[in-house]
Amino acid sequence: MTAQPTNLSGLDLRAEIDRLRKERKAVILAHYYQKPEIQDLADFVGDSLELSRKAAATDAEVIAFCGVKFMAETAKILSPEKIVVLPDLDAGCSLEDSCPPDQFAAFRAQHPDHIALTYINCSTEVKALSDVIVTSSSAETILAKIPPEQKIIFGPDRHLGGYLNRKFGRDMLLWPGVCIVHEAFSETELLKLKAQHPDAPIAAHPECPAHIVDHADYVGSTSGILNYAKATDGDTLIVATEPHIIHQMELAMPGKTFIGAPGADGNCNCNICPYMALNTLEKLYLALRDLTPRIEIEEGLRLEAKKSLDAMLAMASGTVGQGDLGRP
Ligand code: SF4
Repeated sequence: MTAQPTNLSGLDLRAEIDRLRKERKAVILAHYYQKPEIQDLADFVGDSLELSRKAAATDAEVIAFCGVKFMAETAKILSPEKIVVLPDLDAGCSLEDSCPPDQFAAFRAQHPDHIALTYINCSTEVKALSDVIVTSSSAETILAKIPPEQKIIFGPDRHLGGYLNRKFGRDMLLWPGVCIVHEAFSETELLKLKAQHPDAPIAAHPECPAHIVDHADYVGSTSGILNYAKATDGDTLIVATEPHIIHQMELAMPGKTFIGAPGADGNCNCNICPYMALNTLEKLYLALRDLTPRIEIEEGLRLEAKKSLDAMLAMASGTVGQGDLGRP
């Protein structure tokens, strides 16, 4: 269960977290969508693919994962010998919630000639039912390696799947899940903002609906958007993804202006992920102090889920070819 905040007044939380990090031989990983104060004290800040790789490579004894549950579970799948803690166990994801494993298994059974290419934003059980996991960083590289005649189920994000279908001319069957954060951007408000900043390019995450992505000058993962911000000319960029990524942009490019794309009410605050926001410095401190809430995964399930993650890591780094897909 989630550690309950106690009276922490008077504690220097940053100093205490630092002390516990050393005592526990812990590494603190933070997703780009975490609050700035958490990003600032993390050992590593990244997107899902980077954090997956970091989790696999670290020799720390404890991973404190400041992100959402499926990310911490991914770290545990890849590092079963380590203690993995998530500051708030209620930090879920609307995409994971949209895809119950029993319904996904039934869908797969209806399409036995399809492989399942599955976005990493899903439960461990759904990973275990999938052939290859993708992240928004790796999806295009991996899809490009799958023969065009191979039939594919893509889940759970229908917007990312739709974007890939359009870009690659595929007709993957799409699971109907959405990210509630990226779904909330408003095309009308985005065009109003663009009219105020006509020279500012728009960078969008592929979890956005087509009516947002279609206006983007760049479409890519959070890491991709960050790199685009560094590479592109101009002093202003409109950013259509969860706005906490802007913290890293402002650190790296203090002279540039980054504007979060607005939601329906014109206020980009509605695009803050409510799940990511559950993690706080207080809960991170308690998680390191008490080594709870801990991620535990039954070993048989972990090994099944690991196959699809291994396939992703191998294909994303180019060590697997077209013939290596599919479960035995
Ligand atoms: S931003 Fe969307 S996809 Fe990411 S954790 Fe939040 S709800 Fe899930």
